[in-house]
Amino acid sequence: MTIFSKIIAGEIPSNKVYEDDQILAFRDIAPVAETHILIIPKEEIASLDTAKPEHAAILGKIQLVAAEIARKEGIAEDGYRLVLNNGKNGGQTVDHIHYHLIGGRMLGWPPFTDIAKK
Ligand code: 5GP
Repeated sequence: MTIFSKIIAGEIPSNKVYEDDQILAFRDIAPVAETHILIIPKEEIASLDTAKPEHAAILGKIQLVAAEIARKEGIAEDGYRLVLNNGKNGGQTVDHIHYHLIGGRMLGWPPFTDIAKK
């Protein structure tokens, strides 16, 4: 169980932007851009690495929900980035799979910042 399960359960408040029976999207507590939304499955899937073939539909649906949210947020026309961090080197800090929808400003590429190696 992670902090995201508590957010899904409503035990920890969040600023929700989308919810259905399978997916929840809410604003990141520490946004890195004007728009920074986390999109997660309600099912506890730890990471992309541990996702199974039966998760293909929900992972695909999350991407389409991300596009829908981006249009509603008004960032689709200018563009945005959808990011999934996996594992330590990927920068994953919460072990519940999540996509970051980031936009509202020009984003650098490649995204590497040589932050301290953990
Ligand atoms: P990761 O580094 O695992 O890819 O992303 C985890 C994200 O979750 C981070 O961007 C972090 O700011 C966000 N986060 C962590 N705890 C909370 C929380 O309690 N509420 C919200 N809204 N975001 C959180």
